[in-house]
Amino acid sequence: MPSEPIEQSGEFTMLEYRTLFVGGVQAAPLSANSITVRSASTGQVIGSVPAASEADVDAAVAAAGRALSDRGGWGGWSPAQRADVLDRLASELEARGEEIAARVAQQNGMPISTALAIEAAIPVAVFRYYAALVRNTEFEELRPGVLGGEAHVRRVPVGVVGAIIPWNYPNLLTAFKVAPALAAGCAVVLKPSPETTLDTYLFAEAVQQAGVPAGVINIVTGGADIGRYLVSHPGVDKVTFTGSTAVGREIGARCGELLRPVTLELGGKSAAIILEDADLALHAEGLFQATLLNNGQTCVANTRILAPRSRYDEVVDFFAEMVKGARVGDPLLPETQIGPLVSDKHRQRVEHYIARGVADGARLVAGGGRPMDREHGWFVEPTLFADVDPGSVIAQEEIFGPVLSVMPYESVADAVRIANDTSYGLAGTIWTADLAAAHEIAHAVDSGTFGINYYMLDPVAPFGGIKASGLGRELGPEGLAACLQPRTTYLPPA
Ligand code: NAD
Repeated sequence: MPSEPIEQSGEFTMLEYRTLFVGGVQAAPLSANSITVRSASTGQVIGSVPAASEADVDAAVAAAGRALSDRGGWGGWSPAQRADVLDRLASELEARGEEIAARVAQQNGMPISTALAIEAAIPVAVFRYYAALVRNTEFEELRPGVLGGEAHVRRVPVGVVGAIIPWNYPNLLTAFKVAPALAAGCAVVLKPSPETTLDTYLFAEAVQQAGVPAGVINIVTGGADIGRYLVSHPGVDKVTFTGSTAVGREIGARCGELLRPVTLELGGKSAAIILEDADLALHAEGLFQATLLNNGQTCVANTRILAPRSRYDEVVDFFAEMVKGARVGDPLLPETQIGPLVSDKHRQRVEHYIARGVADGARLVAGGGRPMDREHGWFVEPTLFADVDPGSVIAQEEIFGPVLSVMPYESVADAVRIANDTSYGLAGTIWTADLAAAHEIAHAVDSGTFGINYYMLDPVAPFGGIKASGLGRELGPEGLAACLQPRTTYLPPA
């Protein structure tokens, strides 16, 4: 069945899909239910896709299993052959980059400049990185034993990977999960978030064009129930999840019961530490990206800004200007810096936190409402709070919107203490001219990743969190290792 959108209307293309990507083809779904997708900036319906049933998940998991077990199956391909497929998939994604970026911007409100730089470009880099990595990875090793014999260690694919992703960076997170899994020789059943399913049809198209063997990648649509079903499915060998900490705990518990390997990339509440000598004007762009990227719908957003007491007022003024000056608008326009939030429900959540900040006595410096010139869509003004109590709700809980809190600190040790006073541990930054001090502070902050005068993850390095931010790592050789299982054969002394 075709995967082409079938209905056109005046200003935009209504994307109405009737198939699911299972077993290498766009197949008729086994249920008649559908998921409606809306534009974040207008609230209008922009498309619909089938809602997968449990039977569709069964079919997808079975297709993935067959892709591995068939004679000459994917897991048995040489690393170089798999690398060629990954490279071809990277090129197919690259060719669709603009279209992917536009779909994401429409669905979740991500400004198109961000969507092009991240959603379109980084997945290509991630697939190419893993292609190069597996070409240079030894999957077998003979180790001389210390007890006289030898150990033959093989690293084999873990099997069928159930991958569940959120709506905030759908293509990026698809690449984080699919690229290392395929590089390792695993097959994947991917479940995107219902809010961002339209872009997955472009991904499926790229997969088909790249010649990825049938069943190696399958996509099932749906919400929590289909996610739960996939996590517990007997044909799934490993689960990898990105999303909220609450759901991550539930998935972790279920995988614990099943003794099923799991990787969890969860929420964050990271700090940007401004040192006495920081040149704020020099770092204006970097500070914007670190704090407000994708309208604050970013797990690594540095939403707690820690300012030295001596420069507190200046830092508050600097961020007030940044927030007030941010260009809020249609995410499809290149000049837009802040778009709408993903859904009405999510906006209500963010607004609840803004009200809570005010009720708890924080000083609302800028924003706090809805932009006057935006009648439709789920916009919230970029918002700045000052005088925020580090223990208060808005300083402790992940808001996932364009809401920043500035807090003063008395000494560097105090700044590190406040930065670490959170249940999360995903990211953070330091802004200073003193690089030696910066490295020391980077090591003192408890988090999986950290940036000095900059924050952008890179495919070569492990990415992930500690504490309530998750378990395990993606990207880098560590992300590949998480999709492999070592198996040992002991050999007698010669
Ligand atoms: P969410 O946890 O509500 O949903 C994430 C995905 O899980 C969706 O596909 C959803 O349908 C599915 N799901 C929901 N309940 C489930 C269940 N019980 N069992 C199985 N699947 C289930 O998160 P969200 O609101 O879509 O995304 C925002 C969250 O994601 C934020 O907390 C953010 O910090 C986090 N996130 C983390 C990272 C990271 O790498 N650490 C990256 C991006 C987003």
